[in-house]
Amino acid sequence: MNDQQLLRYSRHILLDEIGIEAQERLLAATALVVGAGGLGSPAALYLASAGIGRILLADGDTVDLTNLQRQVLHRDDGIGQPKAESGRRSLLALNPGLEVVPLAQRLDGAALRDAVASSSVVLDCSDNFATRHAINRACVEAGVPLVSGAAIRFDGQLAVFDPRQPDSPCYHCLFPEGQDLDEVRCAVMGVFAPLTGIIGTMQAAEALKIAGGFGTPFTGRLLLLDARTMDVNTIRVPRDPGCPVCGGRHPPAASV
Ligand SMILES: [Zn+2]
Repeated sequence: MNDQQLLRYSRHILLDEIGIEAQERLLAATALVVGAGGLGSPAALYLASAGIGRILLADGDTVDLTNLQRQVLHRDDGIGQPKAESGRRSLLALNPGLEVVPLAQRLDGAALRDAVASSSVVLDCSDNFATRHAINRACVEAGVPLVSGAAIRFDGQLAVFDPRQPDSPCYHCLFPEGQDLDEVRCAVMGVFAPLTGIIGTMQAAEALKIAGGFGTPFTGRLLLLDARTMDVNTIRVPRDPGCPVCGGRHPPAASV
Protein backbone atom coordinates (compact mmCIF):
# COMPACT_ATOMS: atom_id res chain seq x y z
CA MET A 1 0.00 0.00 0.00
CA ASN A 2 1.19 3.52 -0.77
CA ASP A 3 0.85 6.50 1.61
CA GLN A 4 -2.50 7.56 0.16
CA GLN A 5 -3.89 4.06 0.64
CA LEU A 6 -2.56 3.90 4.20
CA LEU A 7 -4.49 7.12 4.92
CA ARG A 8 -7.62 6.15 3.00
CA TYR A 9 -7.93 2.83 4.83
CA SER A 10 -6.44 3.99 8.16
CA ARG A 11 -9.68 3.44 10.12
CA HIS A 12 -9.71 -0.17 8.98
CA ILE A 13 -6.00 -0.62 9.63
CA LEU A 14 -6.50 0.62 13.20
CA LEU A 15 -8.84 -2.27 13.89
CA ASP A 16 -7.09 -5.28 15.45
CA GLU A 17 -9.29 -7.61 13.41
CA ILE A 18 -8.26 -6.02 10.11
CA GLY A 19 -4.87 -4.27 10.16
CA ILE A 20 -2.64 -3.98 7.10
CA GLU A 21 -2.75 -7.67 6.21
CA ALA A 22 -6.53 -7.99 5.89
CA GLN A 23 -6.75 -4.62 4.13
CA GLU A 24 -4.24 -5.91 1.58
CA ARG A 25 -6.40 -9.00 1.11
CA LEU A 26 -9.38 -6.71 0.39
CA LEU A 27 -7.34 -4.76 -2.16
CA ALA A 28 -6.37 -8.03 -3.85
CA ALA A 29 -9.95 -9.37 -3.87
CA THR A 30 -12.59 -9.42 -6.60
CA ALA A 31 -16.29 -9.10 -5.72
CA LEU A 32 -19.13 -9.78 -8.14
CA VAL A 33 -22.26 -7.72 -7.41
CA VAL A 34 -25.25 -9.03 -9.35
CA GLY A 35 -27.82 -6.25 -9.53
CA ALA A 36 -27.04 -2.53 -9.21
CA GLY A 37 -30.41 -1.69 -7.67
CA GLY A 38 -31.68 -1.20 -4.12
CA LEU A 39 -29.38 -3.80 -2.53
CA GLY A 40 -26.49 -3.60 -4.98
CA SER A 41 -26.20 0.17 -4.59
CA PRO A 42 -25.22 0.34 -0.91
CA ALA A 43 -23.37 -2.98 -1.16
CA ALA A 44 -21.17 -1.77 -4.03
CA LEU A 45 -20.60 1.66 -2.46
CA TYR A 46 -19.26 0.08 0.75
CA LEU A 47 -17.17 -2.47 -1.12
CA ALA A 48 -15.62 0.43 -3.06
CA SER A 49 -15.11 2.73 -0.08
CA ALA A 50 -13.62 -0.13 1.94
CA GLY A 51 -11.13 -1.01 -0.78
CA ILE A 52 -12.23 -4.19 -2.57
CA GLY A 53 -9.70 -3.90 -5.39
CA ARG A 54 -11.83 -5.18 -8.24
CA ILE A 55 -15.62 -4.98 -8.47
CA LEU A 56 -17.66 -6.63 -11.21
CA LEU A 57 -20.98 -4.78 -11.37
CA ALA A 58 -23.65 -6.62 -13.35
CA ASP A 59 -27.04 -5.20 -14.30
CA GLY A 60 -28.91 -5.32 -17.58
CA ASP A 61 -31.34 -2.49 -16.78
CA THR A 62 -31.20 1.25 -17.28
CA VAL A 63 -31.74 3.86 -14.56
CA ASP A 64 -35.39 4.87 -14.19
CA LEU A 65 -37.00 7.67 -12.16
CA THR A 66 -38.73 5.10 -9.93
CA ASN A 67 -35.29 3.68 -8.94
CA LEU A 68 -33.95 6.84 -7.33
CA GLN A 69 -36.02 6.55 -4.12
CA ARG A 70 -33.61 3.80 -2.92
CA GLN A 71 -30.92 3.02 -5.52
CA VAL A 72 -28.34 5.41 -4.11
CA LEU A 73 -25.65 4.45 -6.61
CA HIS A 74 -27.53 6.41 -9.30
CA ARG A 75 -28.23 10.10 -9.75
CA ASP A 76 -30.98 12.07 -11.42
CA ASP A 77 -28.72 12.84 -14.39
CA GLY A 78 -28.15 9.10 -14.88
CA ILE A 79 -31.76 8.38 -15.89
CA GLY A 80 -31.82 6.39 -19.10
CA GLN A 81 -28.23 5.17 -18.78
CA PRO A 82 -27.23 1.55 -18.13
CA LYS A 83 -27.10 0.93 -14.38
CA ALA A 84 -23.76 -0.87 -14.71
CA GLU A 85 -22.21 2.27 -16.28
CA SER A 86 -23.95 4.73 -13.96
CA GLY A 87 -22.81 2.61 -11.01
CA ARG A 88 -19.23 2.38 -12.27
CA ARG A 89 -19.02 6.18 -12.45
CA SER A 90 -20.26 6.56 -8.85
CA LEU A 91 -17.87 3.92 -7.51
CA LEU A 92 -14.83 5.43 -9.25
CA ALA A 93 -15.83 8.94 -8.11
CA LEU A 94 -15.73 7.56 -4.56
CA ASN A 95 -12.51 5.57 -4.95
CA PRO A 96 -10.61 6.11 -8.22
CA GLY A 97 -7.90 3.56 -7.38
CA LEU A 98 -10.20 0.59 -7.92
CA GLU A 99 -10.95 -1.47 -10.99
CA VAL A 100 -14.69 -1.50 -11.69
CA VAL A 101 -15.87 -3.73 -14.52
CA PRO A 102 -19.40 -2.88 -15.73
CA LEU A 103 -21.36 -5.88 -17.04
CA ALA A 104 -24.39 -4.25 -18.68
CA GLN A 105 -26.28 -7.49 -19.21
CA ARG A 106 -28.50 -9.92 -17.38
CA LEU A 107 -25.77 -12.39 -16.42
CA ASP A 108 -26.48 -16.02 -17.24
CA GLY A 109 -24.89 -19.10 -18.78
CA ALA A 110 -21.16 -18.97 -19.47
CA ALA A 111 -20.89 -15.24 -18.71
CA LEU A 112 -22.29 -15.84 -15.22
CA ARG A 113 -20.07 -18.88 -14.62
CA ASP A 114 -16.96 -16.97 -15.76
CA ALA A 115 -17.75 -13.93 -13.59
CA VAL A 116 -18.40 -16.11 -10.52
CA ALA A 117 -15.28 -18.23 -11.06
CA SER A 118 -13.09 -15.11 -11.24
CA SER A 119 -14.48 -13.71 -7.96
CA SER A 120 -13.47 -14.07 -4.32
CA VAL A 121 -17.06 -13.52 -3.19
CA VAL A 122 -20.43 -13.02 -4.88
CA LEU A 123 -23.22 -10.72 -3.69
CA ASP A 124 -26.67 -11.66 -4.93
CA CYS A 125 -28.52 -8.35 -5.11
CA SER A 126 -30.93 -9.54 -7.80
CA ASP A 127 -34.71 -9.43 -7.66
CA ASN A 128 -35.89 -12.72 -9.15
CA PHE A 129 -35.68 -16.42 -8.30
CA ALA A 130 -34.37 -17.59 -11.69
CA THR A 131 -31.30 -15.39 -11.30
CA ARG A 132 -30.89 -16.32 -7.63
CA HIS A 133 -30.86 -20.03 -8.43
CA ALA A 134 -28.50 -19.55 -11.40
CA ILE A 135 -26.06 -17.57 -9.21
CA ASN A 136 -26.27 -20.25 -6.50
CA ARG A 137 -25.51 -23.06 -8.97
CA ALA A 138 -22.52 -21.15 -10.34
CA CYS A 139 -21.21 -20.46 -6.81
CA VAL A 140 -21.53 -24.12 -5.75
CA GLU A 141 -19.86 -25.25 -8.99
CA ALA A 142 -16.94 -22.82 -8.61
CA GLY A 143 -16.68 -23.08 -4.79
CA VAL A 144 -17.18 -19.33 -4.29
CA PRO A 145 -18.96 -17.92 -1.20
CA LEU A 146 -22.36 -16.31 -1.80
CA VAL A 147 -23.88 -13.46 0.20
CA SER A 148 -27.61 -13.33 -0.50
CA GLY A 149 -29.91 -10.43 0.29
CA ALA A 150 -33.58 -9.68 -0.29
CA ALA A 151 -35.85 -6.75 0.53
CA ILE A 152 -39.52 -6.29 -0.21
CA ARG A 153 -42.10 -4.01 1.40
CA PHE A 154 -40.74 -3.78 4.99
CA ASP A 155 -39.26 -7.32 5.06
CA GLY A 156 -35.55 -7.98 4.68
CA GLN A 157 -33.45 -11.15 4.55
CA LEU A 158 -29.75 -11.91 4.67
CA ALA A 159 -28.03 -15.30 4.28
CA VAL A 160 -24.48 -16.49 3.58
CA PHE A 161 -23.56 -19.74 1.84
CA ASP A 162 -20.00 -21.02 1.58
CA PRO A 163 -19.52 -24.08 -0.63
CA ARG A 164 -15.92 -24.39 0.62
CA GLN A 165 -17.34 -25.56 3.95
CA PRO A 166 -18.74 -29.11 4.01
CA ASP A 167 -21.61 -28.31 6.36
CA SER A 168 -22.72 -25.08 4.67
CA PRO A 169 -26.14 -25.14 3.01
CA CYS A 170 -26.66 -23.52 -0.39
CA TYR A 171 -29.46 -21.18 -1.48
CA HIS A 172 -31.38 -24.15 -2.91
CA CYS A 173 -31.26 -25.99 0.47
CA LEU A 174 -33.08 -23.00 1.96
CA PHE A 175 -35.40 -22.11 -0.92
CA PRO A 176 -35.86 -25.19 -3.17
CA GLU A 177 -36.43 -24.25 -6.78
CA GLY A 178 -40.02 -24.68 -7.91
CA GLN A 179 -41.47 -23.76 -4.51
CA ASP A 180 -41.19 -20.07 -5.34
CA LEU A 181 -43.93 -19.83 -7.94
CA ASP A 182 -45.76 -16.91 -6.37
CA GLU A 183 -42.78 -14.68 -6.93
CA VAL A 184 -43.12 -11.04 -6.00
CA ARG A 185 -40.56 -8.85 -7.69
CA CYS A 186 -39.09 -5.85 -5.93
CA ALA A 187 -39.06 -4.17 -9.32
CA VAL A 188 -42.83 -3.80 -9.29
CA MET A 189 -43.61 -3.97 -5.55
CA GLY A 190 -43.34 -1.34 -2.89
CA VAL A 191 -40.19 -1.32 -0.79
CA PHE A 192 -39.16 0.88 2.15
CA ALA A 193 -36.11 2.81 0.92
CA PRO A 194 -33.73 2.43 3.90
CA LEU A 195 -34.53 -1.30 4.21
CA THR A 196 -32.58 -1.89 0.98
CA GLY A 197 -29.76 0.19 2.47
CA ILE A 198 -29.71 -1.86 5.67
CA ILE A 199 -29.70 -5.25 3.95
CA GLY A 200 -27.31 -4.20 1.16
CA THR A 201 -24.91 -2.81 3.74
CA MET A 202 -25.09 -6.07 5.70
CA GLN A 203 -24.22 -7.88 2.47
CA ALA A 204 -21.17 -5.64 2.06
CA ALA A 205 -20.13 -6.34 5.68
CA GLU A 206 -20.31 -10.10 5.13
CA ALA A 207 -18.49 -9.90 1.79
CA LEU A 208 -15.70 -7.83 3.38
CA LYS A 209 -15.33 -10.32 6.26
CA ILE A 210 -15.10 -13.20 3.80
CA ALA A 211 -12.71 -11.46 1.39
CA GLY A 212 -10.58 -10.04 4.19
CA GLY A 213 -10.57 -13.19 6.33
CA PHE A 214 -11.64 -11.57 9.59
CA GLY A 215 -14.60 -11.83 11.95
CA THR A 216 -17.06 -14.70 11.73
CA PRO A 217 -19.15 -14.79 8.56
CA PHE A 218 -22.89 -15.42 8.89
CA THR A 219 -22.54 -18.73 7.01
CA GLY A 220 -25.43 -21.17 7.27
CA ARG A 221 -27.77 -18.73 8.94
CA LEU A 222 -30.75 -16.64 7.85
CA LEU A 223 -31.53 -13.18 9.23
CA LEU A 224 -35.07 -11.87 9.00
CA LEU A 225 -35.68 -8.17 9.60
CA ASP A 226 -39.08 -6.52 9.97
CA ALA A 227 -38.40 -2.83 9.39
CA ARG A 228 -41.90 -1.89 10.67
CA THR A 229 -40.71 -2.74 14.20
CA MET A 230 -36.97 -3.30 13.56
CA ASP A 231 -37.38 -6.79 15.06
CA VAL A 232 -34.60 -9.16 13.96
CA ASN A 233 -34.71 -12.95 14.00
CA THR A 234 -31.89 -15.28 13.04
CA ILE A 235 -32.23 -18.99 12.39
CA ARG A 236 -29.75 -21.73 11.52
CA VAL A 237 -30.19 -23.25 8.09
CA PRO A 238 -29.12 -26.91 7.80
CA ARG A 239 -27.60 -28.30 4.62
CA ASP A 240 -30.08 -30.56 2.79
CA PRO A 241 -28.18 -33.80 2.08
CA GLY A 242 -30.63 -34.47 -0.76
CA CYS A 243 -30.17 -31.04 -2.35
CA PRO A 244 -29.77 -31.47 -6.12
CA VAL A 245 -27.39 -28.50 -6.28
CA CYS A 246 -24.95 -29.06 -3.41
CA GLY A 247 -26.01 -32.49 -2.10
CA GLY A 248 -23.71 -34.51 -4.30
CA ARG A 249 -20.78 -32.24 -3.72
CA HIS A 250 -20.09 -33.00 -0.09
CA PRO A 251 -21.67 -36.41 0.60
CA PRO A 252 -22.67 -36.64 4.27
CA ALA A 253 -20.89 -39.25 6.37
CA ALA A 254 -22.72 -42.58 6.39
CA SER A 255 -24.99 -42.87 9.39
CA VAL A 256 -24.14 -45.57 11.91
ZN1 LIG B 1 -27.99 -27.11 -1.39
